[in-house]
Amino acid sequence: MTRPRLATCSLTGCFGCHMSLLDIDERLLDLADLVELDRSPFDDKKRFDRPVDIGFIEGGCSNTHNVHVLRQFRTHCRTLVSVGACALYGGVPAMRNVVTLRACLEEAYQNGPTVTCGGHIPDDPELPLLLDRVYPAHDIVRIDHFLPGCPPSADAIWETLRALLTGQAPDLPYPLLKYE
Ligand code: SF4
Repeated sequence: MTRPRLATCSLTGCFGCHMSLLDIDERLLDLADLVELDRSPFDDKKRFDRPVDIGFIEGGCSNTHNVHVLRQFRTHCRTLVSVGACALYGGVPAMRNVVTLRACLEEAYQNGPTVTCGGHIPDDPELPLLLDRVYPAHDIVRIDHFLPGCPPSADAIWETLRALLTGQAPDLPYPLLKYE
């Protein structure tokens, strides 16, 4: 019997949401029975070669490569889930949204207190172009479900996966979504 396929990606995030998924601990064995892993940092697969049932998005979009990857996920994943504060709101990287991109780059590479000699703003053509601001995933593509938290707990991720794998919309109990 073919198993549902799961893909994950980290855009502009810290991989903490992926670490939280790994925190489901022994349930990883159940997960391995329930799904087939497709494109993901966990298996280092970098391309889709067939449709995927569930896509987990970590991180917001801060550059053109993020947008490209996110659109690929939308094209290939039947259900797309924004996982964590960075995907939902931009998170910590979106702190740069309060200044212009130019001001941010000048502070980081030329004028900031940690710059010791006149720095050069990276401009190698191989680098993805930075966007004017950091965008949440749902500003770029349609997102089907949202899982907040920084990171969402392992239990919240597990319950979300279990719901989706049984064809239900995730409806997590309050204790799993309460952050104090
Ligand atoms: S939501 Fe938190 S844990 Fe997840 S990628 Fe962003 S900063 Fe990291």
